Amino acid sequence: MFPAAGFFLPVCYSFKKLLLQNSSLETNRYFCRRFMQPISNIYPLLATPKKIVITTHQKPDGDAMGSSLGLYHFLIQLGHTVTVISPTNWAEFLNWMPGTKQLLDYDRQTAAADKMINEADWIFCLDFNTLGRTKKMEEKLGNAKALRILIDHHQEPQEEKFAYGISDTGKSSTSEMVYDFIEASGNDDKINSIVADCLYTGVMTDTGSFRFPSTTASVHRMVANLKDKGLQQSKIHENLFDNFLENRFRFIGNVLLNRMEVFYEYNTALIAIPQGDLIKFNITTGDTEGLVNYPLSIKGIKLAAIIIDRGEERKSSFRSKDGFDVNTFARKYFNGGGHFNAAGGQSKESLDEVVNIFMKAMQENRDQLSNYQF
Ligand code: 5GP
Ligand code: MN
Repeated sequence: MFPAAGFFLPVCYSFKKLLLQNSSLETNRYFCRRFMQPISNIYPLLATPKKIVITTHQKPDGDAMGSSLGLYHFLIQLGHTVTVISPTNWAEFLNWMPGTKQLLDYDRQTAAADKMINEADWIFCLDFNTLGRTKKMEEKLGNAKALRILIDHHQEPQEEKFAYGISDTGKSSTSEMVYDFIEASGNDDKINSIVADCLYTGVMTDTGSFRFPSTTASVHRMVANLKDKGLQQSKIHENLFDNFLENRFRFIGNVLLNRMEVFYEYNTALIAIPQGDLIKFNITTGDTEGLVNYPLSIKGIKLAAIIIDRGEERKSSFRSKDGFDVNTFARKYFNGGGHFNAAGGQSKESLDEVVNIFMKAMQENRDQLSNYQF
């Protein structure tokens, strides 16, 4: 081994950590290349048919599903054999998306999914930063002989786990990054109406319908191009937002009336949902998606939290406005992470205990939370 490497690499790593905290995205991207080869290195390899697995985070949301299926419908046009594996089940409201019928659920189809992972040349890992976000798939993914390729926009990716990749927290969504990947590899002609519908779903859901600050001019330019390729946005909005069952609305009524507490002195609101409510209202994966946004639209609320007792764990979601960093908050108190204004975590303690942890965390952050300018 090059004798200086033992010294050089740790120094680079610490230097990079420092830069990640203080510097521009451009500099971050330059330093990422030392640990994970840039994704552009695989463009020339795309021409040769391969066995490919695409996977994403557990309980995939619109972006996880949209980016995975968008990439799937692109890669099959190049002659690759492609399987999409979700670590767990997914929300029913995503089932209209083209390709969900072929999708494997690792929890329920472990043997079939393991076979695909064993045979794969490449594994694309989309919309997650650490292998732990794939739950029971983590070990299998970590030991796979295939090259892992990362496309993601979360902070602090496990770069050492990926042969190639791109991680960019400045991007609105992983779907936007898959779009950039297709464009930059010279394959704009492969964006058909199916790819367009999938990628639009991801970018629209991750930007809160083009509302969040992450919605750059390039996002709108991408959508304009998708529209030229046959995107049917009205149908997608209808599929996603006008397709719920009555029980979900009764459940939301109960949550807002009985399970939400507002702490005005902290500009914070908390929803804590016991498992009994989920059973009573027959709630399934996806029915609770977006609930955390309700308290965030109360005047003055800067931090909104929801803690749901899912039985096997207590799942929390955090959303913030302005300068409150919920990524750090979720990492520090709830074994989680995410983005600056949207993050989540999970805990093994009881619901009451997790609520207590939240109350203490809120008090510890009093200075930041209460200094809110209306
Ligand atoms: P949600 O609250 O919608 O589940 O997730 C919001 C954001 O936080 C997403 O970007 C998601 O990837 C991230 N996130 C949610 N739960 C966890 C978690 O347990 N660990 C980490 N690292 N990130 C999470
Ligand atoms: Mn995303």
